[in-house]
Amino acid sequence: MACLSPSAVLHRNLHEEFPRVVRGQGSYLVLDDGRRILDASGGAAVSCIGHGDSRVRQAIAAQLDKIEYAATTFYTTDVCEELCRELLSSTAGEMTRAYIVNSGSEAMEAAMKLARQYFLEKDTPEPSRTRFIARNQSYHGTTLGSLSMGGHASRRAKFEPMLLDNITKVAPCFPYRHQGLGESDEEYVSRLAGELDQEFQRVGPENVCAFVAEPVVGAALGCVPAVSGYFQAMRAVCDKYGALLILDEVMCGIGRTGTMHAWQQEGIVPDIQTIGKCLGGGYQPIAGLLLHKRVVDVFMNGSGAFVHGHTYQGHPIACAAALEVQRIIGKDNLLQNVVDMGALLSKRIHELLSEHPNVGNIRGRGLFWGIELVADKLTKEPFPPSAGVALGLAEFGLKEPYCVAVYPSSGTVDGIKGDHIILSPAYNTTAIEIEDIVARVHRLIHDYFAVSK
Ligand code: PMP
Repeated sequence: MACLSPSAVLHRNLHEEFPRVVRGQGSYLVLDDGRRILDASGGAAVSCIGHGDSRVRQAIAAQLDKIEYAATTFYTTDVCEELCRELLSSTAGEMTRAYIVNSGSEAMEAAMKLARQYFLEKDTPEPSRTRFIARNQSYHGTTLGSLSMGGHASRRAKFEPMLLDNITKVAPCFPYRHQGLGESDEEYVSRLAGELDQEFQRVGPENVCAFVAEPVVGAALGCVPAVSGYFQAMRAVCDKYGALLILDEVMCGIGRTGTMHAWQQEGIVPDIQTIGKCLGGGYQPIAGLLLHKRVVDVFMNGSGAFVHGHTYQGHPIACAAALEVQRIIGKDNLLQNVVDMGALLSKRIHELLSEHPNVGNIRGRGLFWGIELVADKLTKEPFPPSAGVALGLAEFGLKEPYCVAVYPSSGTVDGIKGDHIILSPAYNTTAIEIEDIVARVHRLIHDYFAVSK
């Protein structure tokens, strides 16, 4: 590795020297020591059109020639309006307003406050609704409100005394570990719907603003889609008690699972949806919310003003980048490629990795696949947390000869820690790259466990 001056950045781990990225092109990242890394995860499932797309650079430059910043307290901009229209047009008229912020955590914070204010704005206000029901082993962000909503134990642990106490949790839909032997999908769904119903009863339905979930669980579980019928059942429980359904699509949305919105595969529509990562594809920090007509109508008939705001929300340069990324997804027919390449990725990882003794489960959707790593395949016993398997594997992957970036994820629920790696390549990846990703990951997993034995 090249001789580096010590890092000036407050990194996640001050004891480590982090590899330095100097360039990116397409599906590859180049490090300062010359290593070319095949980016099989697009960072944390962010880089959906790959790196270094000159069309986005041009869109950013063109926007800089017009206006770089306009405070949303007073103004809107063409580019922000266009982006919102583009996003809403992909919802078949279900969602009628969008709200653009800077990060997924901010989007989740805004979603919580919107839900609360919605109940105050109604013709017959319901001020007692201050509580949320979310799910264990979920991740909704790193700010205190969004962290409170999440069930990612290790990310919460140190801040537990500072977290909100108006949020309770039910189990996620996690068939690999929670579906009973011989329990059908229908029975499993009905058990989970019963649990949610009971939680509403326990906290008092008149106190609940919303139920919150990720359609495909990302960072906390490693790409776990729900079984068929789950979200319809959850929607029905929310409707029964007049609560909102907030879907966090920050990681799994904007095409990642093969449809523009993950809920489009579930036969339901959320009241509030958050989006992030693939909105800007990594070219700018940007996230947002899409609001269902029924929520918008309540605000229209009420005060009309959401009491919220960030200095940089709706930022024109970020909007210009995101608008171009969204247009590229459309112009280059990338959703179809997500479906096609996702099918290939799924087939090949199953073929090459299913039999590995430390691969417990492979699951996912579109170009969003998780591999759960276990100490014992038969008993599903996880590795001890101290082994740091997911992170270790991801770090090992950056080394020669693998040079492949996978995203490590881990979480704890019911005392069980899971180690998973996520594969989430760019939507414009090719069949050759998919074969290359699978070959490298296969070798990586084989060698990592051979060495660590
Ligand atoms: N929700 C989900 C589902 C996420 O995966 C993330 C980020 N991993 C967030 C929210 C928070 O987004 P950000 O890191 O942009 O704040």
